[in-house]
Amino acid sequence: MSVFAAAGVGLLCAGRLCAVRAVLPCLWRGKYFSSGNEPAENNPVTPMLRHLMYKIKSTGPITVAEYMKEVLTNPAKGYYVNRDMLGEKGDFITSPEISQIFGELLGIWFISEWIATGKNADFQLVELGPGRGTLLGDILRVFSQLASVLKNCDISIHLVEVSQKLSEIQALTLTEEKVLLERNAGSPVYMKGVTKSGIPISWYRDLQDVPKEYSFYLAHEFFDVLPVHKFQKTPHGWREVLIDIDPQVSDKLRFVLAPCATPAEAFIQCDETRDHVEVCPDAGVIIQELSQRISLTGGAALIADYGHDGTKTDTFRGFCGHRLHDVLIAPGTADLTADVDFSYLRRMSQGKVASLGPVKQQTFLRNMGIDVRLKVLLDKSDEPSLRQQLLQGYDMLMNPTKMGERFNFFALIPHQRLHGRNHQTNACQSKPSPSPVAGFGELAWR
Ligand code: SAH
Repeated sequence: MSVFAAAGVGLLCAGRLCAVRAVLPCLWRGKYFSSGNEPAENNPVTPMLRHLMYKIKSTGPITVAEYMKEVLTNPAKGYYVNRDMLGEKGDFITSPEISQIFGELLGIWFISEWIATGKNADFQLVELGPGRGTLLGDILRVFSQLASVLKNCDISIHLVEVSQKLSEIQALTLTEEKVLLERNAGSPVYMKGVTKSGIPISWYRDLQDVPKEYSFYLAHEFFDVLPVHKFQKTPHGWREVLIDIDPQVSDKLRFVLAPCATPAEAFIQCDETRDHVEVCPDAGVIIQELSQRISLTGGAALIADYGHDGTKTDTFRGFCGHRLHDVLIAPGTADLTADVDFSYLRRMSQGKVASLGPVKQQTFLRNMGIDVRLKVLLDKSDEPSLRQQLLQGYDMLMNPTKMGERFNFFALIPHQRLHGRNHQTNACQSKPSPSPVAGFGELAWR
């Protein structure tokens, strides 16, 4: 039996139906929108707009990356800092908020990798941008259900989150009691507690602060909120897209092109053939950090997001109240996002680790056994509304016209995981046969 089957079969067949998730249809953020050109029928002067106009008046037009960073994560007024934007009442919906099966299959993936790499005596599970904590809650339920597999393994949870509001919601979702706030300014941990199943959990603002131990990393719809620089090819070479005050309309912003080359141009590949590109240096820094850590200590990173493999151009867009939103209107009230360029993430791993994917969400979840899991849950549920909910959730996650093809899975794993000593050698082969990594290859249900 494959390692995946050893870890996963028991769970896929164990039935436990969780509370009803979001009522569909809600809008997911993988959708496209040509941004910045919409007529502004309604352009309220938000505190963030006032702040940005003041900034631009003092120092000149700002880059799109600076704009995104201020609008999303400014510690006082940032969109992510003080609100819950997820779910039906928020601005967009994500896969874990749609179906419990999503997190369960990711939980199996981590256990499967932990087994395949030799069942280390302990591991850290590190999540970047955990939202409401729903995904982690589903993963931890799997860990509890597979307690016999994980017995004697010392697990700790580490969350990287900049949002005060969301970290409080995560604590409510994941911990039994109100978590302890660390007042010690010298500590990078700003909150800590114990999960409902008794696992220690800590909150950080930056990945750099998470202990550099053997870890599994998870980033679901995290990379798409990191700030991007945008560039347009012109007869004079690449010019960065900037944001300036519109001289024609009061209290309105507009896109302009930088008059000459800007430093971020260094991120564009020499052989780039597109005429418009978006680059995300922050994503590069995080991938370098993850690659460095995984190459030194082992473990793996699983990254899931909407994106492309270095082919798309203008993907910067906004979402508010489950509708597409002009990115320059009422900044601070809407989410801003751009597609993840997986070819850039791969390049930024700089060969320190092996990368897998991107594979489409539909393929990954099917390889992970979503059909078996759905059937088990349907068989266990008598209530028509719950069955309907399960089927609708499955359709949303898997349908190629919905999230099935727009979302992708990408992984970073140590080189030894593919070529190393952990794998059995087939008697007829001279080289060890690479053990398939769950989700990225078809599983043999032997
Ligand atoms: N993973 C969750 C939430 C996705 S929304 C889900 O799939 O449901 C993006 C998340 O990243 C939010 O939790 C947001 O607060 C967090 N976030 C945004 N920018 C961040 C940054 N620079 N560092 C850490 N977390 C960030």
